[in-house]
Amino acid sequence: MAPGPVPPGPVDAAGAAELLRGASGVLVLGHVRPDADAMGSAVALATAVRRAGVPAVVSFGGPDPVPAPLRMLDPGGLVVEPDEVPARPDVLVCCDTSSPGRLGTLAPLLDRARATLVVDHHASFTGFGTHHLVDPHAPATVTLVRAVVAALGVPLDATLARALFAGLYTDTGGFRLGGADALRLAAELVDAGAEPGTLLRGLSGTSSFAWLAALATILAGARREPDAVGGLGLVWATVDAATVERFRSEVPSAVGHLRATAGDGVAALVSEISPGEWSTSMRGTGVPDLSAVAARLGGGGHPGAAGVERPGPVEDVLDALRGELAAQADLDGRALA
Ligand code: AMP
Ligand code: MN
Ligand code: MN
Repeated sequence: MAPGPVPPGPVDAAGAAELLRGASGVLVLGHVRPDADAMGSAVALATAVRRAGVPAVVSFGGPDPVPAPLRMLDPGGLVVEPDEVPARPDVLVCCDTSSPGRLGTLAPLLDRARATLVVDHHASFTGFGTHHLVDPHAPATVTLVRAVVAALGVPLDATLARALFAGLYTDTGGFRLGGADALRLAAELVDAGAEPGTLLRGLSGTSSFAWLAALATILAGARREPDAVGGLGLVWATVDAATVERFRSEVPSAVGHLRATAGDGVAALVSEISPGEWSTSMRGTGVPDLSAVAARLGGGGHPGAAGVERPGPVEDVLDALRGELAAQADLDGRALA
């Protein structure tokens, strides 16, 4: 029986592979300011689609460029600039992207593609696109991509393994999440040629010596509010636009330092990503559910890690955050009681 068109709606890995195999060309996107899961899943998927004989390229919407260290996941040069993407892709794939806004300047492509497959694991997925391979229980988008690569019948090689490993390691917080399945996949990827030592050293990149002073300034400005988040506490710090501009690849790592001091509470790094526009990166234990907090503020993410962009002034951004964190702590506290 000849395969018919894949009907819109939820698809499994086999359905996604069928849609991709039937495409005349595929454009794979990941979310703006990509992390290793967005980059790794997009590059791995496009690599496998090409090997299955279908033309494929990858891009990420602006305004920001792809962080330089992530380029090592794309040895084949599949990533093209946003102004070089096909104007009317046959099949558009959106990786690790929970809402159209997360495609940045490339969001208008959604109206021009014949079909749009979303491969994602965010609890805050908004339901856009024609076909969905979405599992909020997956620890990383790369685990879903791994299944599609297998369904395409493409064997793992070192390029695929590195891209998948990078996303898996990062989104599981170095295998703190994801359980035995994530570790089994990691072993498979290492067998296929991913070298964790080399890979992780390259992904963290090298920083200029000046970053140490900038980080010290950010952390010296951190504040702790023990009564916030329903008494669980909030640790926050801000990063000004000049520091974001100068240390774009390094700044996101600062939230880890805040988190280490937040105990059972919440850490938030609030960075001015463009003049008057603030990005908040939150980390916590999962209670309160930060993806719900972020979604109500216009962003999204996971229970333990979420983000949102909002216009300033920064005092308003912080006030809105305090309000939603307290409300969610109250809600989740009641649910637990
Ligand atoms: P980050 O703090 O930027 O590392 O993001 C933590 C998690 O939240 C990641 O899974 C992001 O994809 C997600 N996230 C961050 N910002 C947003 C946003 N504006 N909308 C939806 N998800 C977001
Ligand atoms: Mn991501
Ligand atoms: Mn992810």
